[in-house]
Amino acid sequence: MSYRLVLIPGDGIGPEIVRAAKKVLDAVFVRFGTEVTYEEVLMGGASIDVNGVPLTEETLKTCREADAVLMGSIGGDASVSPWYKLEPSKRPEAGLLSLRKGLNLFANLRPAYLYPELRDSCPLKKEVADKGFDVMMVRELTGGLYFGERHTDVVDGVRTAVDTLSYNEEEIRRAAVKAFEIARKRRQCVTLVDKANVLDSSRLWRSVVRETAAAYPDVELKVMLVDNCAMQLIKDPAQFDVVLTENMFGDILSDEMSMIAGSIGMLPSASLNETKFGLYEPSGGSAPDIAGKGIANPIATILSASMLLRYSLDMDEAADAVDEAVRRVLKDGYRTGDIWTEGCLKVGTDEMADRIIERLF
Ligand code: NAD
Repeated sequence: MSYRLVLIPGDGIGPEIVRAAKKVLDAVFVRFGTEVTYEEVLMGGASIDVNGVPLTEETLKTCREADAVLMGSIGGDASVSPWYKLEPSKRPEAGLLSLRKGLNLFANLRPAYLYPELRDSCPLKKEVADKGFDVMMVRELTGGLYFGERHTDVVDGVRTAVDTLSYNEEEIRRAAVKAFEIARKRRQCVTLVDKANVLDSSRLWRSVVRETAAAYPDVELKVMLVDNCAMQLIKDPAQFDVVLTENMFGDILSDEMSMIAGSIGMLPSASLNETKFGLYEPSGGSAPDIAGKGIANPIATILSASMLLRYSLDMDEAADAVDEAVRRVLKDGYRTGDIWTEGCLKVGTDEMADRIIERLF
């Protein structure tokens, strides 16, 4: 079996963190005897510089034909970069939106795991942080309020804006299937988060997710209102395994989750479609303030690579090994600048990857 992976280094710290994650992947593939070919493509500002647009049709095609894509980050400092003098549809971020749309990536996965070694950077109460948490958000990414019809009119002399929140059962079902499949690889519990006491769309979510649950008797289904969930994530995040929710609720709750988990340099993400294909990227941006200095934290990208192994290549054992190596490197006191505290060993991007590789097997 031979896999095709596409790498998108992108802009800013992107090339540094992708290079670091690729080293880890290479070590894993050697150990497991997995055959892999890589193709590297330009996206975002790097593509604007060469092609005049942030995403070319050819790049999209290359990504479509791959088993998975690992991306760094795109974009620059809007106050100085010439990319931001272009009209919005030609800027780096537009390339990312077109890529997600072109690949039909409807499920966004954002894990929030609190490493025991980083508990001090968790803003929650000490007794809550001491319990730890390991939550996986599955957010529907291509429907709902952000994609519904919208317009602003003057009605009877009063400016009036309308946004439409619409979901059909197929959009809900495919997101639910992803959540249940992922829960099977974790602690077998899905919490559906909605506003079913008010919204028709949420009531449809509840009914379709309950129907879907029937095919997963090994996975427990809970339901929770979104306002309560926002509180419970602060009060007792350990109660959650997989959180399934629609687009806008997920947008808000996933940022709340990344806040309680500590540094942005630690948070991976995955966007999946109906097949095994996925786009994997760190949750943070291109960090232009530290680009090219070799000090960026590569862990979010390395953990994104681990998600790639788990969800696109079904290499769960390899993914477990990467996750464990990250845990051990933190336990052994290695830190990049963003997570460094007194008494720890400060390392750069490449050294962090090397220390993780040493602890792989
Ligand atoms: P950012 O996430 O790039 O940076 C915010 C802060 O976090 C900075 O101080 C940065 O140094 C730090 N940081 C981020 N990642 C880090 C890492 N791996 N290691 C150490 N420190 C890290 O957010 P921003 O400054 O608001 O955005 C910069 C650019 O990134 C913008 O052009 C934005 O549009 C783009 N962006 C891209 C993506 C993406 O590619 N998916 C996501 C968010 C932002």
